[in-house]
Amino acid sequence: MHDSGIAQLARALRARETSATELAQRSLSAAQAQAGLNAFISVCAEQALDAARHADAALAAGSVKALVGIPFVHKDIFCTSGIRTTCASRMLENFVPPYDAAVVEKLAAANAVSIGKTNMDEFAMGSSNENSCFGPVRNPWDTTRVPGGSSGGSAAAVAAGIVPFATGTDTGGSIRQPAAFCGITGLKPTYGRVSRWGMIAFASSLDCGGMLARSAEDCALVLTAIAGHDARDATSVDRPADDYIAALSTSLKGIKIGIAHEYFGAGVEEGVAAATQAALRELEKLGAVLVDISLPNAPIAIPAYYVIAPAEASSNLARYDGVRYGHRCADPASLEDLYTRSRSEGFGAEVQRRILVGTYALSAGYYDAYYLRAQRARRLIANDFAAAFASVDLIAGPTAPTVAFKLGEKFADPLAMYAADVNTVAVNLAGLPAISLPAGFSAGLPVGLQLIAPAFAEARLLNAGHQLQQHTDWHTREPAP
Ligand code: GLN
Repeated sequence: MHDSGIAQLARALRARETSATELAQRSLSAAQAQAGLNAFISVCAEQALDAARHADAALAAGSVKALVGIPFVHKDIFCTSGIRTTCASRMLENFVPPYDAAVVEKLAAANAVSIGKTNMDEFAMGSSNENSCFGPVRNPWDTTRVPGGSSGGSAAAVAAGIVPFATGTDTGGSIRQPAAFCGITGLKPTYGRVSRWGMIAFASSLDCGGMLARSAEDCALVLTAIAGHDARDATSVDRPADDYIAALSTSLKGIKIGIAHEYFGAGVEEGVAAATQAALRELEKLGAVLVDISLPNAPIAIPAYYVIAPAEASSNLARYDGVRYGHRCADPASLEDLYTRSRSEGFGAEVQRRILVGTYALSAGYYDAYYLRAQRARRLIANDFAAAFASVDLIAGPTAPTVAFKLGEKFADPLAMYAADVNTVAVNLAGLPAISLPAGFSAGLPVGLQLIAPAFAEARLLNAGHQLQQHTDWHTREPAP
């Protein structure tokens, strides 16, 4: 099971070599055996075994759905009816949603079997998964190191072989960076490709649901199940999804990959740059043509993102006021006291920092100087990509400037933590799809290759990833048990 992806497990299920119930039981025991990773906030054995029984019945009735009976986990940011959904915050520690998120509905309809909800940075704010009220997640490759964030629990659960895939969200890199740190594949779809309905909001113009899995092929199977229009999310795009599976086998001959030197700038570790270059040479062997390009506004992506994301967060998080739901302080003396104490007790330090920064950036006196300027920067960044995609099909670089860092290493220094997102946030600002692919190792730790595509060209990303994975074996490597 440990080395099996979705495609292999699906074959075994159809050949009756195993059952959905057996797979669910194995995942549940693996989750328990690896509890030290702290990858889970909730393990849902009863619901999982129930869903597995349904999947077995569907299999017996001849279901050909690609994900039937496949165990997986949801990031604890997706609302699950009757199962608490915390966003790793004291604020929502006891929140039990009355409905399922669109992504949850779709994977349930596909008869995939969720075994639980994964740990994450509080409200998806972070790059190390240390901002969780349930404590940090550990990286299965080296448990003294972070798994990346904010989808760290999802990444650790897949990398440790507990499940073959996991859902995640990516506002500034939270699928791609943990995928890179944990040696797995992670896809951030185009903004609007996957419904955000029931996905707890962080920064609404940037948030995207997606997945982490062992291979590009597995990501294609999951994207097929979750992509599509949803009238309940006004930003969901009414455009049919492509055939992501059929596209996997296209040849890469003649495909142009732009190498932006800005993505190899100061701060990128030598070992990371070398592994990324080696992976690019493999793509070259498959017929890809590497072209040097420039994304001149790349250096302003971090400052723009760290104004826009907190501004939107400050607005989204205003709903947690201790009145309707979420944490409420004891014995409030007044309405003001209720707001202040509920929010001070319910939100962790990083979330409070973002609310302060965001509220400041949106305030009457500073709006022009910060928020408006950040929006202008966002337009320049999107224009850079548009100009580059006039002459190349994909853009490549390292997903993250470093390999997984030590727990605690950047925790006290928010700016050093924010710098971990240097190669990922621009993609969200421009609304584009991107994938992180395992690309070898530096000092024994996984390195991720990021490929970026024009809007709605997920099929091209998955195709390039699959072709690379047909000819290399980095994605099959596993941490020592
Ligand atoms: N690390 C980034 C942040 O803290 C991105 C997080 C995300 O993608 N959810 O904002």
